[in-house]
Amino acid sequence: MDRVLDDYRAVVGDNAVSQLRQLAGDLAGAKVVHVNSTKSGGGVAEILDWLIPLMNDLGLDASWEVIEGNPDYFNTTKAFHNGLQGNNVALTQSMLDAYETTVAFNARRLRPILEEADFVFIHDPQPAKLLQLCPDRKGMWIWRCHIDASHPNRKVWRYLHSLVSDYDASIFSMPDFAQRLPHAQFIIAPSIDPLSDKNRDIPEEEIAATLETLKIPNNCPILTQVSRFDRFKDPTGVIRTFKLLSESVEARLVLAGGGATDDPEGAAVFEEVMDEAKDNDHIHVLMLPSDAHRTINALQRASTIIIQKSTQEGFGLTVTEALWKGKPVIGGNVGGIRLQVHNHHTGYLVNTPEGAALRIRELLRNPVKISNMGQTGKQFVKENFLLTRHLREYLTLMLGVRRGLENHLIAQ
Ligand code: UDP
Repeated sequence: MDRVLDDYRAVVGDNAVSQLRQLAGDLAGAKVVHVNSTKSGGGVAEILDWLIPLMNDLGLDASWEVIEGNPDYFNTTKAFHNGLQGNNVALTQSMLDAYETTVAFNARRLRPILEEADFVFIHDPQPAKLLQLCPDRKGMWIWRCHIDASHPNRKVWRYLHSLVSDYDASIFSMPDFAQRLPHAQFIIAPSIDPLSDKNRDIPEEEIAATLETLKIPNNCPILTQVSRFDRFKDPTGVIRTFKLLSESVEARLVLAGGGATDDPEGAAVFEEVMDEAKDNDHIHVLMLPSDAHRTINALQRASTIIIQKSTQEGFGLTVTEALWKGKPVIGGNVGGIRLQVHNHHTGYLVNTPEGAALRIRELLRNPVKISNMGQTGKQFVKENFLLTRHLREYLTLMLGVRRGLENHLIAQ
């Protein structure tokens, strides 16, 4: 990314940027390392992509490390992910061995940088065991959970609890996800970068050209869900919604997704989706490369309504991206989608394909409502879910945990 913080003044105002510089002054030179398990694909990579350069622009010394793993490791961490989101998953000793061996390999590689860092942010369960393998750590370690952990599978949580309880703090996206842990827990919602290729304004001609390239006729309303091919995103439920809707309305459905290198289930889910969509020329299933940001931007802007019918959702950056583009969202009534879709104001929360079809039909018959909801959604994102608010909360958290440590040392 080649943007600097000052570029955002035009979007969020001078005060928001000046405040960040003021807060960051006390953290100048602090070594900050973020660790996750994929460089591209999914919301965490999307956030780290701008977070690291902007922390550096603020005078911190930030870097991003990615866990290297084999298929056995990613199968285990996907089971952690599914289990944290409430699925009943099998967790065998050999899966845990595969997990621990891979993290140990990565720890040998990363120890010098992690043990020297003033702050280490470990994203999600994949790298969580690193802390136990860095005995000479000097700084504060924070576990950042992006997943809807409101009702975790007990067995999975017991294991993860043993890995994360020694952290100095943890971060969840909303209060419902917080867990019983022996350290401070912070609630920080994610955010989007309004100037990225995914979200910046693009010309109408580019939107039209994108539809043409993808062979999507623009002769009736387009409904789009952008998501990794993951069962929690319920792509087959979206197709059932569309089939119900098609009985009375002419529209097109675009399901745009791609894989993430840390998600081994994508290919199987993609097959299920293709099967459900076959023989319907109004359904367009797209498997996009991980850098197709402008294509996704154009698809979201070409759409009349965006769908995100997840059955579990940590936050749902795709919802934020849609609202920012002035589109109403039909969202699953779960997790972080509920932070963003204010029922009847920025879209509708739905529980079933029938409910989703009903709401989409209602909106398609009411263009004024679509436009009003779009404006409300955009303003809502501007006030709550842009990266400057997110950065501010990271900085205050870092100042807070460091002060907590200093006070603790004084008291000893
Ligand atoms: N995304 C993408 N290509 C895809 C699917 C998703 O670039 O094929 C992006 C999407 O635009 C969003 C992020 O990946 O920025 C997904 O984040 P979200 O929080 O919605 O879901 P996650 O994948 O993290 O569960």
